[in-house]
Order: sequence, then C-alpha cells, then structure tokens
Amino acid sequence: MNSMIMLLGVLFGFLNQADMLPVKNSTELQESKARLKRKYSDELPDFDDMTAMDQILEVNSKLRVPRGLSFKEGDIAFSYVRSAIDCPGNACLWPKSIDGFVYVPYILSPLYDDMDRITIETGMQDISAGSCIKFVPRTHEASFLDIQPRYGCWSFLGQTGGSQTLSLQTPGCMWSGIAAHEFMHALGFVHEQSRSDRDHYVTIVWKNIMPDHMHNFRKHATNNLNSPYDYSSVMHYGRYAFSEDGGPTIIPKPDPYIPIGQRDGPSALDLHKINVLYDCGANE
Ligand SMILES: [Zn+2]
Repeated sequence: MNSMIMLLGVLFGFLNQADMLPVKNSTELQESKARLKRKYSDELPDFDDMTAMDQILEVNSKLRVPRGLSFKEGDIAFSYVRSAIDCPGNACLWPKSIDGFVYVPYILSPLYDDMDRITIETGMQDISAGSCIKFVPRTHEASFLDIQPRYGCWSFLGQTGGSQTLSLQTPGCMWSGIAAHEFMHALGFVHEQSRSDRDHYVTIVWKNIMPDHMHNFRKHATNNLNSPYDYSSVMHYGRYAFSEDGGPTIIPKPDPYIPIGQRDGPSALDLHKINVLYDCGANE
C-alpha cells in the first residue's frame, strides 16, 4: 500500500515537473500544430495562455474611448492635438538626471486598494531593477504620469509634457506585466510587431484580421536599437490579436511554433532596449 502511494507520489511529481518544462515536448508540439490547423473559436487562447496584450485587448474591447482621445494599436492613446504615435528624434523621452538615472514621477489614484498598488509598483520595479529608469512619487515635477483606474489599459507614447494619464483599470488591468507594458509605452516604446523589420520575423495573416482593425498592424519607422527581434517581448501582440474568426493573425517565421508574447513582465531584451534607448551605460 505504502509503495503504491509512493509510486503515485513520484508519478504526480513527475507530471508536475513535466508541466513546468520550459521547452515544448513533441506531443505538445503535435497538439499545437493541430491547433494551428483547426479553425474558429476553439483556437482562442485559454485565460492562462493569454499574453499581456491579449488581456489588454480583451479589456479595451469593452472600452468607451474618453472624449478627445483616440487609440492606436489597441492601447496607445493620442489626442487629436498630438496625432502621431511616433517619437521622432527621441523627442518623447524622459530626461536623464545628472546622476545617470531617468526619473519618471507619478501619482497613483486613491481609488486603488493595497493589492492594486502592489501590482502596479511591481510593474515599475520590474523595469527599474534592470535599467536606469526610476519611478518616483511626484513632488513638484511638471511632467508626470497620472495613473488612474479609468476604463481600459492604455498609455500615451513617451513623455507628453505636463500631467499625462495612464489608465490601469481595476480589476481588468491588474497584472504587473500589463502595468509594465503600459509603462513601456510611456517610456516611448511601440509594440514589438510594429517594428520596421518585423516582416523578416513574423507573417501578418491579413485575411484573419477584423477589417476595421487592419490599421493596428501597420509598421512604424522604429529605431530598433540594434537589438534582435524579440518574440518574448511583453510588448508583442498575441498570436490571435484582432482575429476575426479565431484564426491566428501573427505567425512567427521560419518556425511558426515559437511562442510569442507573454504576461510576466519585461523580457531581458525589453530591458536591454530600455537601457540602449536611455543610454543607461553602466547600469546596463
Ligand atoms: Zn500596448
């Protein structure tokens, strides 16, 4: 009897471990190949497989766009006054302090509870821990992030000057990876698959995209900071972003089964790009 329990214990432990293996085994690969071939709604990702961007699009699909604002790529806000989402000549970057750090002042809405604050601050720390960016509570600074639980998860691109809203709806956007995603927009980054060189790395499946969302797949004249294309960027759309019928809209190439996007937080390459863009130097 005891040996039976032990055997079960070992088997259970093994299954648990197998579940945590970072590399897909061949069975899973076969399953995912079958899944890619299958069509329609059963292809939509489970909640556990959702990337930060999947969740953002899910929340924002129910969004009433605030007056005077519009969104590009699902969550990058722009006002009609400042219509571009590009950042020519790095004009939208936050200034670097003489001590080598880039301070990004913020105020946090009193509507957030303690757990919300911890989630948002974790998103900040995941960026700060690997870069020279420091998010600091605002004291007197003229330009700052005004973080509020408005409808949806969204941010302006880079520093806009003055008070700029960054919305993290609670509970919909309360993942540290989503917070980090929006903070990276506020630091000046667009989505990874908008890179000027993306066609070398992914195929955009235009026929699967909802027709009124084609514009969300435009390329931008991005500065790619001499860094490799990053399928695991927290700024990458998920495989099914803006899908009309549940079929994939983005397929990596040459290997279509490379996982794309995630929701844990900035990838090593995301942090590398922040360090290059802000010339973090010794902090890199
Ligand atoms: Zn985004």
